[in-house]
Amino acid sequence: MSQASGVNWIAGNCISCQACLLVCPSEALHLQDGKVTFDGSKCDSSFFCIQICFTNALEKIDSGVGGEV
Ligand code: SF4
Repeated sequence: MSQASGVNWIAGNCISCQACLLVCPSEALHLQDGKVTFDGSKCDSSFFCIQICFTNALEKIDSGVGGEV
């Protein structure tokens, strides 16, 4: 039932700067014990986080997603 996320989360790249928390409209990104975590089940694939993350902790999954640039 939950929509598949089009975002791949690479936790090892995240420095928990929290920039993505401010732009995510679906609350898929959370701060937990001082670290940012990603909940793919809430992700709406807006890809705003990918645009703002400068450590490549979030990347677009190519398969099944696209059509828009
Ligand atoms: S913008 Fe990138 S580095 Fe910053 S908290 Fe989000 S995922 Fe982590």
